[in-house]
Amino acid sequence: MSAMLAVENIVKVYRAHGSEVRAVDGVSFEVEAGTTFGLVGESGSGKSTIARCALRLIEPTSGGSSIDGEPIGRLRGQALRRLRASTGMVFQNPVAALNPRLTIEQSIAEPLRTHTALRGRALAARARELLDEVGLAQAHAERLPHQLSGGQCQRVGIARALATRPKLLVLDEPTSALDVSVQAQVLNLLQDLRREHSLSYLLISHDLDVVRYMSDTAGVMRKGGLVEVGPAAEVLVNPRHEYTKRLLAAMPETPGAVPLHGLRTADGEGARGGPPYAATEKSRIDPSLNENRIPS
Ligand code: ADP
Ligand code: MG
Repeated sequence: MSAMLAVENIVKVYRAHGSEVRAVDGVSFEVEAGTTFGLVGESGSGKSTIARCALRLIEPTSGGSSIDGEPIGRLRGQALRRLRASTGMVFQNPVAALNPRLTIEQSIAEPLRTHTALRGRALAARARELLDEVGLAQAHAERLPHQLSGGQCQRVGIARALATRPKLLVLDEPTSALDVSVQAQVLNLLQDLRREHSLSYLLISHDLDVVRYMSDTAGVMRKGGLVEVGPAAEVLVNPRHEYTKRLLAAMPETPGAVPLHGLRTADGEGARGGPPYAATEKSRIDPSLNENRIPS
């Protein structure tokens, strides 16, 4: 297997008002093609900074990354735009990530306008196809973000990230802002999409349950450094590092975390990503809370 994303010794020092914050201090890891690498760690440990540096949304102070074998540190202009199109990012706050004045279809069409030659009917058709892929109804196309639930807005965020058919998605706390009742649906949608499109994910979360459920490999961040990396089933079940043990010990018990694929939401709509992922609090989905109900 080869690395879809290789992060090599990234350091990021933020300088503001004469003071320095060493947010990331020499972090290296690889996301193998077709797998999910979960980065877990407490708030402020540098997870988002790594994600932004890895895709060059911000410039690392030193170190860098390669995507699908290509070092991205020196890319400029057209080559940098091509890199942007081959990756996608999903953010924590799905409502804030959308332009409130654009309809859902316009929001999804935006990255297509920027990165592809699609226009007119072909553009609309691709936007509608993406809507369908993320389990939203065609009726959502004409709505504005404020008319959708948080979970539905995050589905739009995922559609936007997928628009250019990227190989790598960076998911920064993709479910942290969502109601517990819809988190599992969005995680399952992400799992389905990863399999169908052979995607690679860098998943960032402060929630150990989420990382354990989603990841093949896990890395544990603390104060800008990676303290432990390995198969998720080992690192997050039988950690070697003291810090990971303490993180785990601080977590509420999650008995019998068994994926329950096959269930569908009450009205059959939004069947994609429908099944709850674990026999925990998160999976007890009340059909009346169905996030895919279109507000009338
Ligand atoms: P995490 O995503 O794990 O919560 P972040 O990468 O957002 O962590 O932040 C890591 C550290 O860098 C924190 O101390 C944070 O306050 C600081 N930081 C993040 N962004 C900036 C910025 N733009 N300017 C200055 N400091 C920042
Ligand atoms: Mg963050």
